[in-house]
Amino acid sequence: MADAAGANAITVLVVDDDPFVCKWFVRQLNSLGYGEVSACVSARDAILVLEAASGAFDLVFCDLQMPDMDGVEFVRYLVQSNYKGGLVLISGEDQRILQTAEKLAQGRNLNVLGALKKPATPAQLQKILANSLAATAQRRDNAEAHSYVAADLELAIAGGQLVNHYQPKVELASGKVIGVETLVRWQHPRHGLVPPERFIRLAESAGLIEALTHAVLNGALRQSRQWHNSGLDLRLAINISMLSLSDISFPDIIAGLAAEAGVAVSTVVLEITESTLMKDPIASLDILTRLRLKGFGLSIDDFGTGHSSLVQLRDVPFNELKIDGGFVHGAWNNSSTKAIFDASLGLARQLKITAVAEGVEDRADWNFLRKAGCDLAQGDFIGKPMPGGRLAEWISDWHERDLAA
Ligand code: C2E
Ligand code: MG
Ligand code: MG
Repeated sequence: MADAAGANAITVLVVDDDPFVCKWFVRQLNSLGYGEVSACVSARDAILVLEAASGAFDLVFCDLQMPDMDGVEFVRYLVQSNYKGGLVLISGEDQRILQTAEKLAQGRNLNVLGALKKPATPAQLQKILANSLAATAQRRDNAEAHSYVAADLELAIAGGQLVNHYQPKVELASGKVIGVETLVRWQHPRHGLVPPERFIRLAESAGLIEALTHAVLNGALRQSRQWHNSGLDLRLAINISMLSLSDISFPDIIAGLAAEAGVAVSTVVLEITESTLMKDPIASLDILTRLRLKGFGLSIDDFGTGHSSLVQLRDVPFNELKIDGGFVHGAWNNSSTKAIFDASLGLARQLKITAVAEGVEDRADWNFLRKAGCDLAQGDFIGKPMPGGRLAEWISDWHERDLAA
């Protein structure tokens, strides 16, 4: 899609059974410089228009509630006809229906630019159009992103190309920095810093996760020792794949590495992410219980997503619960998100374990969490993941920030 300057080169189709809504969109889009705007008052008409143009529209605005064919059916048609442009859903229905329809369309790999609750305002429309440009750029980046095979990653691990970044975890009541989470990156010689989402699953499926975990652990434990030597006592969190928990010797190996590095196991928290189903639940339980017996902290990561988190919470001796960012950011402003956040925090309270909120992106999130009485917070608003050498300076800057609500 073209940039804002090229808005007049973009072809837009508005589909809504209410002719006034159609007119409103056409007028607004015209005034924003979108010259080629067509409107249809039924999905069936819209299909004829799309077919006549061989689907060559850049952007479609579609109402959900229409008498002849509803928006969900129309979205299905778009998928079948291989529509490649952007889609904005509009509806006068409950916000939750709109959000679900949006997820549904995304799930079908349509380029969903957003959802607008009627009556929409010009500002909301403008925001969606602006976001669409950023999202399109991001998608292009991802489409061009390099994909890797096991041999690349194996060489990277052996060649020391994995580097750890560390993101601060802060106590909400006091603002005190109590620890960091270790997040691995691949310092690729040609592609720059590659995020973990591009290689963790590959490591898991290619049998490289153990080697990766060892590289991360060694670096993090060494870093922790250095911080300790310079007077910084921080809890060190490390992400552990469920797959590492099928090796019965894992608790002894990790305890040995901590002892070698001179790091007390009571300061190490293992964040367990369940990206794959447990291969052998009994072996995992054996390993997790022994890790707690040895004094490691155990954290259930991304709580509220993935498989059977509640079952895990019941069966595994976790002492920390990390509420997924999806239930934190914007919870103050969304009743469903807030309900899930409150329930998760309530669970942590009742189980008497530490609650950590992930994905704290702005001051509104921070203020909400303080009021809610959550224990710890982590997120871009507080500090982005950074190389270990930068942490001391970040901490002194952090203490100078004014965080009064
Ligand atoms: P995670 O453990 O849930 O880590 C939190 C992720 O959220 C990190 O992404 C972090 O950079 C990102 N994040 C932090 N603050 C914010 C925020 O305010 N907003 C948003 N939207 N995101 C925020 P990252 O570093 O890309 O890591 C992604 C995931 O990769 C991690 O999720 C973890 O599951 C996995 N991972 C990272 N390092 C390792 C590792 O050493 N071993 C294993 N097995 N998995 C790892
Ligand atoms: Mg984590
Ligand atoms: Mg997480």
